[in-house]
Amino acid sequence: MKLMSQHINSTRLVRTYNASTVLRTLYEHGSCSRSQLTRLTGMSPATITRITADLIEAGVLLEGHHGKSTGGRRPIYLHIDHTKLYVAAVKLIRDDCVVALLDLKGKILAIEQAHPASYEAQELLSTVATSLKDIFSSLSIKQEYIVGVGVAVSGICHPVDGIVIRSLNLGWKDVPVAEILGDLLELPVLLENDANACALAELWLGNARETANSMYIKADSGAGVGIISNKALLTGSRFVAGEIGHVPLIPDGKLCRCGQQGCLEPYIFFQTVREHYKNETGLEITHAEFVTLARSGNQFARETVQETASALALACAHWGLILDIEVITIGGVWGAFEQEIIAYCQRYYDSILEQSVIPSSVVIRGSSFDDVADLLGAAGLVVSNWFTPASVPFERQDYGL
Ligand SMILES: [Zn+2]
Repeated sequence: MKLMSQHINSTRLVRTYNASTVLRTLYEHGSCSRSQLTRLTGMSPATITRITADLIEAGVLLEGHHGKSTGGRRPIYLHIDHTKLYVAAVKLIRDDCVVALLDLKGKILAIEQAHPASYEAQELLSTVATSLKDIFSSLSIKQEYIVGVGVAVSGICHPVDGIVIRSLNLGWKDVPVAEILGDLLELPVLLENDANACALAELWLGNARETANSMYIKADSGAGVGIISNKALLTGSRFVAGEIGHVPLIPDGKLCRCGQQGCLEPYIFFQTVREHYKNETGLEITHAEFVTLARSGNQFARETVQETASALALACAHWGLILDIEVITIGGVWGAFEQEIIAYCQRYYDSILEQSVIPSSVVIRGSSFDDVADLLGAAGLVVSNWFTPASVPFERQDYGL
């Protein structure tokens, strides 16, 4: 909290409750006149005039075109200068730590791989902070116009406390990521599990934009699911909702590294495929090479894709129907197999609905974002939090600068 208030002191204007409300209204409506803002926010015309003047002076708001007169002066429409406010995003997965800077609309302005010397938490987060600072300075971006930092991490996270409770992928237990990174960057930091971040990215900008209930199946760092229920993340009581990787699902299925048989993970975790391929051939393989191999008719790749399709079809149907999901996104390399996996899962799901006469439907798709879904979701986390006035720790009536 100390950090949060330090940052707020330097950017009091955009962080006050009233200014945040005005900005959120403009973000949601695109552009508004002052009288529309008065009506939409419930604030007095004098307050709106004062806040908008200050935001224009700070360079955050722009005056745009004139509207039609309804008797008096023609109203001037205001909109956010999207080139003035930014969000930083971080993806923390072993062998794939990436930092980025985005604008408020989710456009990636800079992206960079971070190369930590080790995965020890302090060391890794220091490298991440340095990489982000390099981006800020190379683009000449003032710290005070960065709304916050979103972090998508492979592991179970406590999003409110900003702690990674457990990450097998990174070998972390109870790491206060928001506090450590917040100290290094002097910015507010928000944290979320990587599958949840991807689900948020699809909700914010991708496949699930028009839907209330959706699901994202992630396979990059294990097997996890991010669930959106009524437009919000479903986290469960202990933040493990969607940890489906080690629930035995496939009868007489593959032996899993956890010791059980038939878990989803050995079917969809690409690292397992990579290791299997290396054992067979002695060669390393990338996502793209694997897709090419399967399409060229290679037996190993084709069989792997078929097995994965069957496992994913089961997972989609089980979880989709439990949660009455409208859109399922299959992330990572598997989403690239339009016919072999996506269409297969869709047919399987449709046939269950038809046979059981359940009045429902689902749309299954590959991800809209390749490997930047984590970053977009992390950024979306910051944007949606920032635009929630209740999260601004200020006296609601106090707008004094
Ligand atoms: Zn397992």
